[in-house]
Amino acid sequence: MALQLTNRSKVVSNKEQSAMEKLYLPAVFKGMSITLSHLFKKSATIRYPEQKRIMAPVYRGQHVLKRDDNGAERCTSCGMCAVACPAEAITMESAERKKGEEHLYREEKYAAKYEINMLRCVFCGLCEEACPKEAIFLTDRIVDTEFEREDFIYGKDKLVEKMTERIDVTKRQTPEVLEFKKTPGLKHNELFDGKKLKEKH
Ligand code: SF4
Ligand code: SF4
Repeated sequence: MALQLTNRSKVVSNKEQSAMEKLYLPAVFKGMSITLSHLFKKSATIRYPEQKRIMAPVYRGQHVLKRDDNGAERCTSCGMCAVACPAEAITMESAERKKGEEHLYREEKYAAKYEINMLRCVFCGLCEEACPKEAIFLTDRIVDTEFEREDFIYGKDKLVEKMTERIDVTKRQTPEVLEFKKTPGLKHNELFDGKKLKEKH
């Protein structure tokens, strides 16, 4: 006896087709009527980029490398985000801050080169969770389409926020997230467990 996994199976009919069925006209008209009915239904697509969908405030889109209030880059090139990234999408090169560069880089070490390969990225947000400096955040921006693969490798020119176009990430910095990050010993990819948090404090 054949094993039945679901009750969705249908018995295939092998009955002889009638003359009308052999003409395929009923099937053609049925198909045309379905096609035409879609003309009067609300379209499932939108005319992007002129029209944009409303995104959730915590949508995980294109990253931003934040500056502090004085405009200095927050990233200290510690590499935690790259280690946390499951897609190995992040690479960076560190450099030492020179005298007189305090207004450019917040800490003594900074990322001279910082790249994210957007074709590898799965927008999981683990880089954001791992960052101890509140330097990298995902935003509600959509990564642009490109024709060449190398154009999807975003460098600091596309990632570091511009002073004239600051990006508000306060919605991603909920009190719970900030509290979670304060706790030493909690791994970036551990599931949030309120009890564990209390134990550690
Ligand atoms: S969002 Fe996830 S996959 Fe993308 S760079 Fe960050 S850690 Fe890697
Ligand atoms: S973005 Fe954050 S985690 Fe990544 S290197 Fe910079 S400071 Fe470290």
